[in-house]
Order: sequence, then C-alpha cells, then structure tokens
Amino acid sequence: MSGKLIVVSNRIPTAATPAGGLVYALHETLRKTGGIWVGSDPEFHASPSRSLTEIGDQSAYRRLAFGLTELDHQTFYLGFANSVLWPVCHRRGDLVRMSRRFEQGYRRVNKRLAQQIFEVAKVDDTIWVHDYHFFPLASELRKLGFEGKIGFFLHIPFPALGDLGALPLEASLARWLADYDLVGLQTRADVARCLEMFRSELGAELMNDGKIKYGDQTVGVRSFPIGIDVDTFVATAKRPMADAKLAADLSGDIVIGVDRLDYSKGLPNRFRAFGRYLETRTDKSRRASLLQIAPPTREEVTAYQDIRHELEELAGRLNGENAELDWTPLRYIHRNIDRNLLAKLYRIARVGLVTPFADGMNLVAKEYIAAQDPNDPGVLVLSRMAGAAEDMTQALLVNPYDIEEMSEALTQALNMPLQERQDRYEACMAQVKATDVGRWSENYLSALKDSRRKLSWDSFS
Ligand code: ADP
Repeated sequence: MSGKLIVVSNRIPTAATPAGGLVYALHETLRKTGGIWVGSDPEFHASPSRSLTEIGDQSAYRRLAFGLTELDHQTFYLGFANSVLWPVCHRRGDLVRMSRRFEQGYRRVNKRLAQQIFEVAKVDDTIWVHDYHFFPLASELRKLGFEGKIGFFLHIPFPALGDLGALPLEASLARWLADYDLVGLQTRADVARCLEMFRSELGAELMNDGKIKYGDQTVGVRSFPIGIDVDTFVATAKRPMADAKLAADLSGDIVIGVDRLDYSKGLPNRFRAFGRYLETRTDKSRRASLLQIAPPTREEVTAYQDIRHELEELAGRLNGENAELDWTPLRYIHRNIDRNLLAKLYRIARVGLVTPFADGMNLVAKEYIAAQDPNDPGVLVLSRMAGAAEDMTQALLVNPYDIEEMSEALTQALNMPLQERQDRYEACMAQVKATDVGRWSENYLSALKDSRRKLSWDSFS
C-alpha cells in the first residue's frame, strides 16, 4: 500500500490494547501499518465539531473520533442503522420502523463524516469502511472527489433481494456499494445475494472473476469469513480456573449460550428447546443446566425491550417448572463476562448452543470450539442460519425454528461418544484455524490493493 490506511468503524476503541476479535484484528493491523482509525467514541458526547478529534492513545496510529448529536444518535444510530438496516439484513422486516427522519439522519451523518475524513485523507490513502452504519460513505467521498481505494466489509448478513423491498426507495444499497472498489462479505451465500442485487437493480454484468461491471467501472464482491485470534483464545482457555469454588459449582453437564440479547439470536426458542430436552430426557437423574450469558444491548429500541421481557418470562417459567431444591436448570446472566473467564466457561461446558435465526458469522461458535480440550471436547450445536455453519459443517447443525430438532440435538450432544466428539471437534477446529482473524485482515487488504475500480482501455478491446 503506498499511502496510509484509514479504518472507519462505528465504535473506536480507546484502550491501548483492545479486547475482542474484530477490534483486536484491526488494532493489530493498524499497529503494524500505522494509519488512522476513525469512529465514534461512546464517551465522547460533544456535539460534532467540524473536524475529527484525537482521542485515547495515539502512539501506534491515530485515533480520530466523530461526535454525534442526540438527534444523530436517535435517527442515524438507533433509527436507520438499528431499526431499519439491522432488521432488514436479519430477515425481520416485521420489526422495521420507518421514519423520514431516520433516513435523513443516516445521510446527514454519512455526508458529514465523509467531509471530515476527506480533510485528513491523501489521494493515495486506502479507506476501509466497516459495516451497515456506513453504506453511503464511499458515494459521499466520491462526490467530494476522493479517487483512492475504498473498501467495504459487511459484518452482518447480506439481505435477499425480496427483503430489500423493506428499505425506503432512496436507500439503494446497490448504488451505494457500487462506489466501493471491493465489497467484502462473510459467506459465499452473502456474495450470491449481493451479486443478484447488482444484477437485478443496476443491470450490472457479472464477470467470471467475481467482479461486477457497471458502466465503466468494476466492483469486486468476495467473501472473507471472519474468525478469532485462535492462539490467544486457546492459551487462555487452557489455563486453570482461578476460582476453585466457581469451578466446583459448575461441575456436571453444562450447556452454554453466549450472545448479546438480540432478537436475531433465537434465544426464546433456545430456552424452549432446553425445556423440551428436560421434559423428554429418559434419565431424570441427569441434571444438565443451561448457562445463558446475554448482556443487554440497544435497550432504547422497543424490539429489544420486548425480547428482554419475553425471555425473562420464559426463564422464570422454565425454572419454576423444572428446578429442584438443589438444582437450578437455567442460569441466565445479563452481564458482560471477562474474556479470560468466558474462555474457561466454554471449556467446562459439554455443549455450546448457538442458535441464531440469522447471523453474519457468529464468533461465539468459533470461540467455543477453540476453547475445547482436544482430548475430551464438548459438542457445538449450531444453527444452519449462522454464517459459521457454511464451513463448520461438522457441528451438529440445527434449524433454529424447530424446537423438537434442537432438543434432540441436545440429547445427541450430551450422549455423544468420545471418538465422535473428537472427530467433529477436529473438523470444526480446522475451519476455525483456517479463518484466523490475523489472516482475515491481511487477505482483505491484499485483495483491496489488487482491485481496480475503473476499467482500463484494454478491457474494452
Ligand atoms: P455479534 O457480533 O452479533 O454480537 P458474535 O458472536 O459474532 O455476535 O460476536 C460476539 C462477541 O461478543 C464474541 O466475541 C463474544 O465472546 C462476545 N460476547 C458476547 N456476549 C458476551 C458477554 N456476556 N461477555 C463477554 N463477551 C461477550
């Protein structure tokens, strides 16, 4: 790369070494290459100044924050991004909330951010934009005259053509994405849907190298399945649990679920399936417990308040009907857990239960596998609808709408012989290693470097 790298994401980490997969990967990339990370800082409530503001540690690369007004927060973030785009991409058109103000806020923030980035970007810089908050950012930068490379990566599912109908007419993902050089997606199925959109909405031509041709320009569309920092996670999970009392409390058959409390994660059906498993188990002396860790998220959005209430009611009923004086079948924890402890909880658990209705990738599935003891591994029960299922085909794949099937998968997982557990673990672990997050950003950036938006004259001859 000749110029510098500018990464744009909704949130910017302020700690010197941030935890968490994606953030860690981008931090490591920028630490090596130098450059700028642009994002909003949740602690930075100032009204938007005309320029980006330096925040946090600036030693390895620059961190520049953009501010959001309360109106921006309501319309851009809670509104268009999380009450329109998020449900559309997760096949929940029924949860979309429409408002002209949302769309205006989304455009206003993207336009202002493009101007702020344009002030610090040089012509040979590469800009890497992350996620659904910023679909129009390249279009806005091109309007200002930025001609350098701009890449986009969508972390959530790419919507099917039919679902795009739930977006306002003016919000054309096809037009917005056509201004990028490379559109990165999580899975091959996402790529197929994206190409179909370009073909149908712009009449773009599909070229045999996975690019689309639209007017005199080309856009690359490829999958780059994201993963975790495997070595660090494996090493953390291996260390013994410091808290001996907790380790003793968690003995027995633990089934673990770890998700943000989002309606896309299929939590109510997961609770129902666990309840069904308890009812149908033949050996009643076997007392499995479900440890569900689900920190609340986006609580200002009504759909998130609704799912929280629904789950609280289901959890109460499940325990009320099944608990014994010395056994609580469901432990439901509404908090963030330290990652070191999380890795050990995964390792203790006999089953990892990951059952979203729709999910871009689902890193919890990969973390669960990476945390297992290869000599005595647990079993991953994984929704077919998670991006992770495209390659982790040796997990026990389930339909997250089918309570009976999930309950049977739990029975199968808890009774699975050692050899089968090891075989499945090894196959899944090979996939986890193949998508290590370090390689993910390298692969993406090298593809972006090789991409070429304008067709050269020889392409016409
Ligand atoms: P999403 O990005 O939709 O939240 P992913 O499964 O891809 O779903 O990523 C979630 C990440 O957040 C994982 O790295 C997971 O370990 C972490 N996480 C989720 N819930 C918790 C929690 N309660 N405590 C700590 N980390 C969590």
